[in-house]
Amino acid sequence: MRCHKCDERAVIRMRQHRLALCRTHYIEWFVQQTQRMIEKYHMFTHEEKVLVAVSGGKDSLALWDVLWQLGYHAEGLYIHLGIDEGIQYSTESERLAREFAEQRGLVLHVINVAQVHGETVPEIARRTRRGRDKPCAVCGLIKRHDMNQAALDLGFNVLATAHNLDDEVAFLFGNVFHWNLEQMRRQSPVLPESPGFARKVKPFCRFSERETAAYSLVRGIAYIEDECPFAEGSKQLLYKDLLNRLEEVEPGAKLRFYLGFLEARDSGQLILPREEEIPLELHPCPRCGQPTTSPGLCAYCRLFESESLGTLGTPVQPK
Ligand code: SF4
Ligand code: ZN
Ligand code: ZN
Repeated sequence: MRCHKCDERAVIRMRQHRLALCRTHYIEWFVQQTQRMIEKYHMFTHEEKVLVAVSGGKDSLALWDVLWQLGYHAEGLYIHLGIDEGIQYSTESERLAREFAEQRGLVLHVINVAQVHGETVPEIARRTRRGRDKPCAVCGLIKRHDMNQAALDLGFNVLATAHNLDDEVAFLFGNVFHWNLEQMRRQSPVLPESPGFARKVKPFCRFSERETAAYSLVRGIAYIEDECPFAEGSKQLLYKDLLNRLEEVEPGAKLRFYLGFLEARDSGQLILPREEEIPLELHPCPRCGQPTTSPGLCAYCRLFESESLGTLGTPVQPK
């Protein structure tokens, strides 16, 4: 198979775009498409500082690499969760994130949860009702809080995550399946900044996992190939699997589902509850200062109270 732009051998064929490209043209296409998304959704400008949430995986390192190539002021943030039971998942992913930053002379900020709190994420989770079997709810809460806090403390008003199309579609599918209208209202390539919250952007929301993996591969980026061991058996993976089977028989189905949803919602054809109809009274948490709906400490701070065995409460920050 030949590249559609030159005579070289194609390294990827994207059926949904009816496009096959060689290594050089694929990198060029991928970088240009990212820039288009940044502009289309008014994510950020070259004058703004962007903090990239880096996990050591293919998507986040690819995102940092592309933003670096496009000349954005992008620094990385790695959160060491302490998931080192069995495979050395956190230690190895931190090593790869550091190596990536050093090779390019980029700044990587690191938060080590065990050093900050004296316990790893699985240990914190085991103390809570919801995290006893699986630490994902506690892990998500800690990551969202620490990413937002780091962005505010370090003077970044933009926080970029590498959620790809497969992540977004699986999340949307789950929300439709459970009629979670509130989450559907908030799912977006950009969440504007608000008092106490950095702007959240997802420049890769239209790339499939296969496309981000191909980019990392052709760019020679070393990333952690193992999934977090706690991801096994998750609903997200099940939805991704179902949607991939659908994509097999109907190329482009995932992209159409996602774009169709954004268009229907943003044009008003799909009417979801508006913010005023679900009043969220936010006030600063007395301990960390981040906005919360809880009357006392926020859900994050309650994790570190001595009697933090209760539920996590309602998270107010989006995905
Ligand atoms: Fe955290 Fe669960 Fe994701 Fe692992 S799979 S990084 S525990 S949210
Ligand atoms: Zn080519
Ligand atoms: Zn707090």
